[in-house]
Amino acid sequence: MPLIALLPGDGIGPEVVEEARRVLAALDLGLTFEEGLVGGAAYAAEGHPLPPATLALAERADAVLFGAVGDPAFDNLDRALRPEQAVLGLRKQLGLFANLRPARLFPGLEDASALRPEVAGTIDLVIVRELTGDVYFGEKGTRTTSAGLRQGFDVMAYDEEEVRRIARVGFETARGRSGRLCSVDKANVLETSQLWRDVVVAVAADYPDVALTHMYVDNAAMQLVRAPGQFDVIVTGNLFGDILSDQASMCAGSIGMLPSAALNGTGKGMFEPIHGSAPDIAGQGKANPCAAILSAAMLLRHSLGQDAAADRVEAAVAAALTGGARTADLGGATTTREMGEAVLAAL
Ligand code: ATP
Ligand code: MG
Repeated sequence: MPLIALLPGDGIGPEVVEEARRVLAALDLGLTFEEGLVGGAAYAAEGHPLPPATLALAERADAVLFGAVGDPAFDNLDRALRPEQAVLGLRKQLGLFANLRPARLFPGLEDASALRPEVAGTIDLVIVRELTGDVYFGEKGTRTTSAGLRQGFDVMAYDEEEVRRIARVGFETARGRSGRLCSVDKANVLETSQLWRDVVVAVAADYPDVALTHMYVDNAAMQLVRAPGQFDVIVTGNLFGDILSDQASMCAGSIGMLPSAALNGTGKGMFEPIHGSAPDIAGQGKANPCAAILSAAMLLRHSLGQDAAADRVEAAVAAALTGGARTADLGGATTTREMGEAVLAAL
């Protein structure tokens, strides 16, 4: 019986994770659930945003369904104790190096996109972002230049194994979709990107069924808003992926609709909505639970190999929307619970 660790966290996290849990439970897959404290909720109860019991639960579970962390009440804590540290701690503990962010516009939500409706309707892609390397984790510091000026520096570095393993996730993801992979880099000016491109090309030999293209990141940013329909799967580094995935999410509509996965190559992963704890609407029953429910669908697909069940959940979300359910972020008055009910009814 697969064990799912539920880490609801703060703000709207518990509200949306509960709807996702109900959807998972309704599938009759014999899943078991165990809840853990994380974020501000964990700090309040145990004095740490990621208590040992939560780490142990995440280790033991087959997959983690995460809500959101962040609570303005804890903004003045030392950095190491802030709720947001829990996400970094879990990523590190579980060795999560690949971040998958699908961006897809559900039918009827064209108005929620930052793009013109006819362009928005064509967006259906996945960004595979590397999570453990790049400029965020290279050597960094400040020094004084020969002219006596203060200078900050952050080293952008990738080794070939780091690129190889994320490239494989990109190819596998493309293989499971329509078989097109676009590798995004800045190989005309960056050494890391030269290496990136060499390694991606080498890995491509193992995936003759996937059509590989390369694009410079500046062009990719432009193409994402000009003609997003050209993309199926994008694989890119940590920095470029950070920026492009936020850009793609606004093209795909409300922040309340978008799921994500963080994977470590063993099938195990942590699945969470891309939105935060939204303290401004917490406890009011206004949060859109679809991002959490679609994260649960990704969990079924990537960690449990339950592709058919994942398809059913995604189709049920689409059907609920087609049936007219709209939470406040989508311009309606459907509550969190009612949206969950609409998805359950469609299931
Ligand atoms: P973080 O730093 O954790 O990303 P944030 O403050 O940047 O948090 P969110 O918590 O995602 O961002 O909130 C941004 C805005 O989007 C808020 O106005 C919030 O109410 C809204 N929002 C976020 N998630 C949802 C949701 N599921 N349903 C409806 N509105 C949402
Ligand atoms: Mg944010």
